[in-house]
Amino acid sequence: MKPHAHSHSHKRQEMSALTGRLRRQSRKITGPRAAILEMLRRHPHPLTIREILDALPRGQCDLATIYRSMHLLEEMGIVKRFDFGDGAARFELVGENDDGHHHHLVCTKCSEVVEIGECFPGEIEKRIAARNGFKAVTHKLEFFGVCPACQP
Ligand SMILES: [Zn+2]
Ligand SMILES: [Zn+2]
Ligand SMILES: [Zn+2]
Repeated sequence: MKPHAHSHSHKRQEMSALTGRLRRQSRKITGPRAAILEMLRRHPHPLTIREILDALPRGQCDLATIYRSMHLLEEMGIVKRFDFGDGAARFELVGENDDGHHHHLVCTKCSEVVEIGECFPGEIEKRIAARNGFKAVTHKLEFFGVCPACQP
C-alpha cells in the first residue's frame, strides 16, 4: 500500500465547532448529546456504545439514549461508524469537510488501536469499478496484528 493523501485529520475538535454543527442543522444540544460529544472529542479512537456508557458519569445517559444519539450524529455526518468484526459498532468523530475515511490497526491481544493514515491508491477502486461495471466503489478495511507491547 502506498501512502495516499486524504483529508482525514485527527486533531482534536473544538466543542463549540461540534455544537455549532448540531445547531446549524436545527438540533438541540441536550445534556446527553453534549456529554457524548465531549467523550468522543477526548478519545482519539472509535468507541463502542458500551464504552461511551461506561465512561460517562453514572446516571447521565442510558443505553437507549446513547443509541439514539449515535444514530442521529451518524446521520448528520458528525460521527462515523467502524466495524472491527466483533459485533460491536464503534464510533469516531469526523471533522467538518472530512469524509472520515481511514483505517485502523488493532492489536488482537490487548485491543490497542492505531490510527492508520494510509489507503489504497485510487486506481484500484477505479479498476474494480471498470471491470465490474460498478460506479461509486469504496471500501472498508481494518488491519489486525500483535502490538509491540504484546510481542513475546
Ligand atoms: Zn480512527
Ligand atoms: Zn497489544
Ligand atoms: Zn481506505
